[in-house]
Amino acid sequence: MNVLNTDVLVIGSGPSGLAAALEAHRNGANTVIVDSFARAGGQYWMQSKYGLERNDRQMQAGANFITNSENLGIKTITDAEVWGILPKYRVFIQQGSRDSIEITARALVICTGAHDFVMPFTGWTLPGVMTAGAGQRYVKMYGKPPGDKIVLAGSGVFLWAVAATIVKAGGKLEAMVESSSNQFRLFSLIGRHPSRWTETRRLLSPVLRSGVQRLNGYRIDYAQGEDRIEAVKLRQVSNSDRDASQELEMETDCLLVSHGFRPITEITALLRCEHQFDTKKGGWYCKTDPETGATSIDNVYAAGEVTGVTGAQSALIEGALAGLGVSEKLGFTRNGIERKRARLMKRQLRTARFADGLAELFELNTNSMPRIDDNTLVCRCEDVIWGDVLKSWDDGAQNLQAVKYWTRLGMGRCQGRICGVAVSRLLANQFDLDPRIFGFNHPRLPLRPVTVNVVHDALARKSL
Ligand SMILES: Cc1cc2nc3c(=O)[nH]c(=O)nc-3n(C[C@H](O)[C@H](O)[C@H](O)COP(=O)(O)OP(=O)(O)OC[C@H]3O[C@@H](n4cnc5c(N)ncnc54)[C@H](O)[C@@H]3O)c2cc1C
Repeated sequence: MNVLNTDVLVIGSGPSGLAAALEAHRNGANTVIVDSFARAGGQYWMQSKYGLERNDRQMQAGANFITNSENLGIKTITDAEVWGILPKYRVFIQQGSRDSIEITARALVICTGAHDFVMPFTGWTLPGVMTAGAGQRYVKMYGKPPGDKIVLAGSGVFLWAVAATIVKAGGKLEAMVESSSNQFRLFSLIGRHPSRWTETRRLLSPVLRSGVQRLNGYRIDYAQGEDRIEAVKLRQVSNSDRDASQELEMETDCLLVSHGFRPITEITALLRCEHQFDTKKGGWYCKTDPETGATSIDNVYAAGEVTGVTGAQSALIEGALAGLGVSEKLGFTRNGIERKRARLMKRQLRTARFADGLAELFELNTNSMPRIDDNTLVCRCEDVIWGDVLKSWDDGAQNLQAVKYWTRLGMGRCQGRICGVAVSRLLANQFDLDPRIFGFNHPRLPLRPVTVNVVHDALARKSL
């Protein structure tokens, strides 16, 4: 087992993690970053094995940030998944499939980001159906699109980001289907935030040039196929009779779906940090002091989408603020910090207003959700269908924990990260309840699946 000591441990190397590490390091704190991905950059700056960053300004900006951090000598450990944390702060990591690392840190900055999210629907487990994020990652990892007739559906500007990645890699999109009809208000939002115009044009131009068919105000009804997806049924979003509106069928070999992002709160929840709920920020998120990134737990800081989904620019600013905050708390400081913090706070206000506006335009509501029936699988790890959940509810399991005991929902590999959020939302819709009442998962060790020898290493050192 590898054992390290540091002042600050940053978990996550996306925009927020890299920015936090950079500021903490500049202030003089010994700083280490760990990330479960094979390369630093997180989601927004995910680096391709195929040198795609040469043609992509977003990836290029990430590559520059990563190089800068390496040149400054900030130690970054990749392919390294945090699976446990004990107080003051001993952090357990599995690197690769077998190696163990234990890092003792005076303070933590949690920058674990968000995962992309899909509401279950009939046919969503057919091969060829994946999250839009997985589709984008496929292109970045393998240098080619995940299908020949791709339909991209759901809601939010992320659909444009994925479409841009696909067409820039030479892929062909059959259609882009947005459930919100508010898309055109996007231009008025950008009119109020002109600094966002370049970024928006960068996303929109390649997609518009590709001539892809675009449908607004349509939702996925269900997917169909024998051994894999062959077609998707779409339905016009209607405020009256959900199932009587205009229907369309589209042939496809690959359906990419996005219904937004959800903060990855398993580490902040494990540490018992205070959390808040806001659908516009992706549901449950870790509460922080906006000036310093401090959470409710001493010497635990958080930044980026784990503190609410507000986009990459916001993550970058929050990361810098948390890096300043954590290093100052540990007694490291330098001249001009107050001015820097004030500048960052001012930028953050503007960025947050823009993120709020976007969230309003693309909020998923009951009418824009896909169809689900009793036989739809809602927990893929444990094969739980929606009918099982409803039955457990009727039998008296009237909270998520009880549904879990009744049905095993959330007891599998994802530990409820995916199904817990979706089922809370479905139950809230079904029984007209506030999704907050379902709470969120309380994770236990190990946070992620680990090999026995990794746990054995920790036990042998009497760490656990
Ligand atoms: C799949 C996906 C694709 C996206 N693509 C785009 C895009 O193209 N354009 C755009 O504007 N926005 C995109 N986003 C939104 C984007 O996530 C953010 O705006 C931005 O990346 C947030 O930065 P962050 O630093 O908060 O988190 P992230 O960039 O998500 O970084 C979080 C990092 O934490 C690491 N991590 C999480 N848990 C652990 C653990 N237990 N142990 C070790 N490491 C851990 C992850 O591996 C990840 O690298 C995407 C989001 C997702 C989920």
